[in-house]
Amino acid sequence: MAVLPGATIGILGGGQLGRMFALAAKRMGYRVAVLEPSADSPCGQVADIVIQKPYADQSGLKELASVSAALTYEFENVDAIAVEFLEAQKTPVHPSSKALRITQDRILEKVFVRDCGIPVTPFAPIRSAQELEAAMAQVGFPSFLKTSRGGYDGKGQIRVENVEEGRKAFAEFSGRELILERLVPFVKEISVVACRGSDGAFASYLPSENMHVRNILDLAILPARVSESTAQAAKEIARKVAEGLSIVGTFCVELFEVADGSLMLNEIAPRPHNSGHSTIDACLCSQFEQQVRAVCGLPLGSTELLRCAAMINLVGTGEGDQLDGVEELLRDPDVSLHLYGKTHAPKGRKMGHFTVLANTPDEAEKRARELQKLLRWK
Ligand code: AMP
Repeated sequence: MAVLPGATIGILGGGQLGRMFALAAKRMGYRVAVLEPSADSPCGQVADIVIQKPYADQSGLKELASVSAALTYEFENVDAIAVEFLEAQKTPVHPSSKALRITQDRILEKVFVRDCGIPVTPFAPIRSAQELEAAMAQVGFPSFLKTSRGGYDGKGQIRVENVEEGRKAFAEFSGRELILERLVPFVKEISVVACRGSDGAFASYLPSENMHVRNILDLAILPARVSESTAQAAKEIARKVAEGLSIVGTFCVELFEVADGSLMLNEIAPRPHNSGHSTIDACLCSQFEQQVRAVCGLPLGSTELLRCAAMINLVGTGEGDQLDGVEELLRDPDVSLHLYGKTHAPKGRKMGHFTVLANTPDEAEKRARELQKLLRWK
């Protein structure tokens, strides 16, 4: 049975993804409850009910479930046990703890992807010093040694060029479950944000073309400048993942495009994704509204791109907490500014983003790069 506007949706995690989800939900007439340990969180600032307790706190989880008619989470590093606990409270939770368990563990994720018949980065799991040696012999170099769980935005990974560096990196991650992945000489990084509804309906946005700086997404261009067949293949990968996980909700597949145009899956995020933020301004139904619809058992919305878009992340530099240049930025009427309500802008913290709409992806990229120069933290 659908959860209709007027009801409360509960969300685990109070970051910017929760905030943008909450804003979409509230626009549709829902109320929002959030469980988040920190005060004044991006999502807490816009939620109707804030339960300020640790994510794994059972009384907090029970309270969240008791005030909510549907539940979701906004990031994949929440403990799957907390999501299982919520599932036991009988309020529907989407995506399921099964989808979370697989996607929050790089080893389980890569095995799942391979079993779905999707090309994946060459990899080997490492749980001991012996497995490290075997993995290095199998995968080769250059490669990335990554923690199997808990990494994001390039955290928890070290690039290694040879056996000595592999051993050194292994020692740095001592005691953790690891994965060695071969470096893929990609020509482009793209992603597909998609959504599967509770009735099995599937809807995907066009692929986004993503550029990173120090492993953090810097610029995302919608649509990606790839061939029609590559775009179709990327969407097909997203569909296979959706069906394999039986996921209900918005999710993202991150892909590498290699020189011959073929694709390799890098990562799955079981939630709205940074590369999909421009769907707020460039599509009738954003990735966040889509998530609301899926979580509430409603029909999915249109993923049609109304105009090309480029999104620039506004990442803290540590030089100050004030964003300078906002007035100049907003002189461009095709710009939409999204700030997440965070007061401190340390280096590497995602503080907000802006989207610029244009007639072609090339024009969107050019204007985004010019506009980016107007802004700085001070
Ligand atoms: P991840 O956290 O796995 O998404 O990695 C963050 C970024 O590091 C990716 O977006 C890529 O730019 C780069 N990266 C990670 N793994 C690989 C790989 N196997 N080959 C090439 N680049 C990679």
